[in-house]
Amino acid sequence: MKKLISCAALALLTAAASAQPLPAYDLLLRGGRVIDAKNRIDAVMDVAIKDGKIARVAPGLAPGDAIKTIDVRGMVVSPGLIDLHVHVYNGTGEKGSYAGDLSVPPDGFTFRAGVTTVVDAGCAGWRNFEDFKDRIIDRSKTRVLAMLNIVGAGMRGGKWEQDMGDMDGEATAKMAQRYPGLIIGVKAAHFSGPEWKPIDEAVIAGNKANLPVMVDFGVDQPTRPLYDLLTKKLRPGDIYTHMFSGLRQEQDPASKGPSKAFVEGRARGIYFDTGTGGGSFKFMLAVPIISQGFKPDSLSTDLHTGSMNSATKDILNVASKMMAIGLSLPEVIADMTAHPARQIKREDLGNLSPGSVADIAVISVQKGRFGYLDMVNTRVDGAQKLVAELTIKDGKIVYDLNGLSALPWTASPGDVKLDPRWTTFPRQDPALGVTAR
Ligand SMILES: [Zn+2]
Repeated sequence: MKKLISCAALALLTAAASAQPLPAYDLLLRGGRVIDAKNRIDAVMDVAIKDGKIARVAPGLAPGDAIKTIDVRGMVVSPGLIDLHVHVYNGTGEKGSYAGDLSVPPDGFTFRAGVTTVVDAGCAGWRNFEDFKDRIIDRSKTRVLAMLNIVGAGMRGGKWEQDMGDMDGEATAKMAQRYPGLIIGVKAAHFSGPEWKPIDEAVIAGNKANLPVMVDFGVDQPTRPLYDLLTKKLRPGDIYTHMFSGLRQEQDPASKGPSKAFVEGRARGIYFDTGTGGGSFKFMLAVPIISQGFKPDSLSTDLHTGSMNSATKDILNVASKMMAIGLSLPEVIADMTAHPARQIKREDLGNLSPGSVADIAVISVQKGRFGYLDMVNTRVDGAQKLVAELTIKDGKIVYDLNGLSALPWTASPGDVKLDPRWTTFPRQDPALGVTAR
């Protein structure tokens, strides 16, 4: 009888313990400058996360309501950055190909720059998209979305990319419709011929699948002027990338400001993207065009092996560079979050609305002497540089430059059972003598 009672008491105690409610939030970022363009927020606030989603954004949230609280005073809290133009179809072993050696593995370049979502801009076409998906998209921690190349074989080099016989809007749309939300656009790129075929087929695919077309306009040809592309061929909502390359009539020769094609294209609703890359950004265009009030709609890197170590480096270097030539901090944040999300019709991303996926970049604005480069190796000096401090994907820390989330090594780690709710990093559990994950 006595034993029975003690068992019952134990059961009650266990029930009471397990019924103990979890704190209201898994993770709380306290005191940062929240910049959320979609929700028109630019203010010091706290951001609370629960179950991988944004739970609340407000001032004065109580630290006791969260399993883990991180002090981010003096830093910027942004939605996780979206890089609208990258090349990440790496690992096929194909030489000299963006469906191979010219691409980079996404996770090596993203979280360390505050990026949680990238858009692969046309490395794969409808023929090899599923290989790209299996090889990269499904195996990356970064959220990888894709624009299909209008060339079925994708961005494998001249022999394929100039093959008008493999530019098929119908087949491209059909593949895009199999992966809604994942294939979020169509890319036309690198074409050197005088014909409009890649653009026409890309627009056919875009219309069928209700997706935007992004254009790298290739070789400048008199038979297909930029003016016609932006005022007749493309539709409102389509995207012109490499806007400051100077390779294709982007600049008005007299005023040095935006060309008539740019001005009329923007008035129709064409979006303009930086795609700075290895050979697509010059200060001699960007400085006067921006100073005359024509600013980008989105900042992107055109990340690949030819841009990762040269002038572009990463998206925060691009953003810092843009700040050095006239864009404000709220503008560059919007151009890496809400604006690209709108362009690719993924407005669930790039914001901190309660209920949205908790992808967050905590960024410090460092002051000092910095220099920024362009494709012809000229420099602009800057006094500010954006640095990714902490990156959170799906509510969990995936990058922590200075250990903001860590305890001093001499401190007791305390109870680590709930750590997996807010971090991907391990911590030693002294009671179990094992590593919590
Ligand atoms: Zn590119």
